[in-house]
Amino acid sequence: MKEIKEFQTESKQLLNLMINSIYSNKEIFLRELISNASDAIDKYKFLAFKSEGKYPQKDYQIELELSKKEKCISIRDNGIGMNKEAIEKNLGTIASSGTKEFLEKYKDFKDKKDIDLIGQFGVGFYSAFMVGKKIEVYTKTVDDKEYLFTSDGVDSYSIEEIDKPDLGESGTLIKIYLKDDEEEEKYSEYLEEYKIKSLVKRYSDFIRYPIKMEVTSYKPKLDKDGKEIKGESQEVKEIQTLNSMIPIWKKAKKDVTDEDLNNFYKSRFNDYEDPLISLFIKAEGAIEYNSLVFIPSHVPYNLYSANYEKGLALYAKGIFIEERNKELIPDFLKFTRGLVDSEDIPLNISREMIQKAPVLDKIANNIEKKIVDKLKEIKKDDYDKYLKFFKVYGDFIKYGIYSSYGIKKDELEDLLVFNSLTSEKEISLEDYVSSLKEGNKVIYYATSDNLDSIKLLPQLEKYRKDNTNVLFLVNSIDEFCIQMMQKYKDYEFKNIASESQDDLSKEEKEKLDDLSTTYRRFLDNVKESLSGKVDDVVFSSKLVDSPVCLTTKDGLSLNMEHVLNEENPDKEGEKVKASKILEINPNHELFTKIKDNGDDEYVKKVGKLLYQEALLLEGYEVENKSEFVKTLNELLIK
Ligand code: ADP
Repeated sequence: MKEIKEFQTESKQLLNLMINSIYSNKEIFLRELISNASDAIDKYKFLAFKSEGKYPQKDYQIELELSKKEKCISIRDNGIGMNKEAIEKNLGTIASSGTKEFLEKYKDFKDKKDIDLIGQFGVGFYSAFMVGKKIEVYTKTVDDKEYLFTSDGVDSYSIEEIDKPDLGESGTLIKIYLKDDEEEEKYSEYLEEYKIKSLVKRYSDFIRYPIKMEVTSYKPKLDKDGKEIKGESQEVKEIQTLNSMIPIWKKAKKDVTDEDLNNFYKSRFNDYEDPLISLFIKAEGAIEYNSLVFIPSHVPYNLYSANYEKGLALYAKGIFIEERNKELIPDFLKFTRGLVDSEDIPLNISREMIQKAPVLDKIANNIEKKIVDKLKEIKKDDYDKYLKFFKVYGDFIKYGIYSSYGIKKDELEDLLVFNSLTSEKEISLEDYVSSLKEGNKVIYYATSDNLDSIKLLPQLEKYRKDNTNVLFLVNSIDEFCIQMMQKYKDYEFKNIASESQDDLSKEEKEKLDDLSTTYRRFLDNVKESLSGKVDDVVFSSKLVDSPVCLTTKDGLSLNMEHVLNEENPDKEGEKVKASKILEINPNHELFTKIKDNGDDEYVKKVGKLLYQEALLLEGYEVENKSEFVKTLNELLIK
């Protein structure tokens, strides 16, 4: 009996996109279907490995057939097949949550660039509708009957039991009836042998099962004695295997070009852009494994979502185990994609056990080290490329140091780079310290939430004047990372906005002490006007042009106060508070004008404004706008 069913809403949306899309790369449908076929064989092979009887061994293969008469291209595998339930679940709905999320995000496609993003999502089976007006899927599992799924990809599909063609024990045959040629898209090209051959070479060469197709070649005609007849040729049809079948990671390094790696990455991990960094590891010795690790050029689209799964694909002795084994990659490298294939993973234990085998830990440590070494190498050899990497993923490296409580400090500290006061590009800690004068053991840093406002910090004036470099920490993780590190080698980090007189000479200190005694009343007045806001008001030698600045003591900086409180905006009681010091520039005209003013109320009002001014200079908002305006006006009227 034939049943007609509606596609799930999300599937309809995706199908609609597929059918009408201007997605430029329609040819990827073939690699998607071949990759599904290969996965299906992987699954069958795994079961056959475990239970010989029910799943007899086969000659695993994928067959392609082109029919110009029917305008149809067929892809057939002898893999696991689908029963009726699986057809509905897999083909009638969108299995992958990523695709759903994608649809949410890109409900209204605006331009072609958005559509090309589809490539990132492994749209899989549905991509067949980019080129086909009707699709038939004949499929059978070992313990069920054969079914035929048919759809034109619009609203509905049908499923019916069927007994032809003979799919043997199990397998799937997909027939795509091609759309009619259009001005800009010649679908009939997919019926040409040369086209299919080149697509298989480009996208599916590494598939580990033979992809076979009947191809026509021209050979010299033979006479009845078997001798070639000069100048005459004949058409010969023969079944050819189109792919080389050696997984790219098993080839010798010298036989794999960058282009091979890029193509492999794009097709295996569904990306539309070449990877930024590729790493090909062939480990020999105590543990043997082959691994390919890629760092995408752009952040994977759902990296920041809660259901992002990190991990590398895992193969044991060439048999696929799982797509994302999360033990294989540390959190701070969760943006990497890739795979590991090891001969050392025993296959005669269950899949779940394999996923946790102790050898995986060793492989994981080894891979982490190789990735970090590779990054260090790029930093040395191609600094601009490294900066590109760091722009996209730098926060993860800092997070690695922070979240490991500093355990990964030694491993990762040389990967850090920051913008700074005197350098044009980001500078590494290594370069920062090597530019220090002999005996100087301090790395200065300033914090703010963006580069524009950090450059306006009043505390920088002194450093600018002395031509001392200061690191600019502008991402929220930066200061947490630095504080976790405490030191870089034997250099200490110091926030230029932390209250300290350590750098002052004896004379400078005395001078400030004298000033404080002389102008005690002034300082007390200002302090009183700011009670609850600042812990102290002092004279400063940090400033050149600005009248005031805010500093903090006891470790918690203004920036950290800000970041931490932003994380809990609603929990008033849980807010943290940095102890703030208002520092006044005794050489500034503002001070010299009012220092001897005996009107305490006036000085208090000025004090309030100076505090707000300091906040603004640090890149924050005025705390209480109406009070600020009121005080300002009172002073203007005076
Ligand atoms: P994906 O491959 O990314 O999971 P697809 O839409 O390509 O998404 O396929 C959905 C599911 O349909 C697959 O996960 C698989 O379970 C099933 N499937 C697709 N093609 C085949 C096939 N040739 N043989 C068996 N199952 C298949």
